[in-house]
Amino acid sequence: MSEKIKIVFIGLGNMGAPMAANLVKKGFDVTVFDLNQEAVANLVAQGANQIDSLSELPENTQLVISMLPAGAHVRNVYLGEQDNGLFPKLASGSLVIDCSTIAATDARELAEAAAKHGIAFLDAPVSGGTAGAAAGTLSFIVGGSAEDFERAKPVLEAMGKNIFHAGSHGAGQVAKICNNMLLGILMAGTSEAIALGVKNGLDAKVLSDIMSKSSGGNWVLNVYNPYPGVMENAPAGRGYQNGFMAALMLKDLNLARSLAESCGSDTPMGEQALAQYNRFVETHEGQLDFSAIIDLYEPGLVK
Ligand code: NAD
Repeated sequence: MSEKIKIVFIGLGNMGAPMAANLVKKGFDVTVFDLNQEAVANLVAQGANQIDSLSELPENTQLVISMLPAGAHVRNVYLGEQDNGLFPKLASGSLVIDCSTIAATDARELAEAAAKHGIAFLDAPVSGGTAGAAAGTLSFIVGGSAEDFERAKPVLEAMGKNIFHAGSHGAGQVAKICNNMLLGILMAGTSEAIALGVKNGLDAKVLSDIMSKSSGGNWVLNVYNPYPGVMENAPAGRGYQNGFMAALMLKDLNLARSLAESCGSDTPMGEQALAQYNRFVETHEGQLDFSAIIDLYEPGLVK
């Protein structure tokens, strides 16, 4: 793929905005679309073009990337009511890369629907958080054909560091959901461990340093500490804003439950994390970063 390729990027939220900005910085021709006009204006100020509806696709659009909250939004954009869906508007031979975290069953259905129009589809959910999106160091976990994976790779490399081919359509989503079920478990468990230590007189940073270099060490302790004051760059250092919303973690834990039910897999720890995030979203703002779950175990940390 040449750098002159025309990309339409849909969904400029906490993740999509920095991802699209990296494509612009790397010299791609990027046109953006979002329902939020402020998000669009921010990208235009960085050098992107804009469209006001999905009916206004630039001529010769060859590649569409989406980064939307959930399966319903993705279905709506490609198949559904929104401007009658994008698939019929794209030229045969185009490539669609959906980076949202959605059900593997939705991803497979979208791939089938795309194929009817001669369009290649990849599910390519990401890991690495908003910091990884800004730094261009995301992991992409891709499901689809090997040929389409190779075609997408140069564009994904402009936004990420580790580009994995998980398998055929839907495999990217299965891997992502397994990862996020584990992340939900780790965040809840790490949060309760820190809260327990603090209640027993330990300093949160001292305890976190000890655990991160001991057998309890994990990604949450290394880069995403949930306790305010321990890590300046983590969402806990900015009032749990502009991160990975707890409501989206709850969505992912529900996706994990559905996946487990569909194959009869036993996921008791995933169920416990789901119960914890349900409790959090019932009692707090779902917009807060998912690390704010620590407020369940040490009430008062979220202001
Ligand atoms: P977000 O809510 O911040 O952003 C979503 C954006 O999509 C918003 O700007 C919204 O206006 C836009 N949007 C919604 N419906 C639309 C439509 N029909 N047409 C056009 N635009 C529309 O969410 P996010 O945090 O950027 O997450 C996006 C996806 O990435 C989710 O599936 C999430 O699970 C996944 N994810 C998030 C993180 C993270 O750290 N935030 C990390 C990995 C994966």
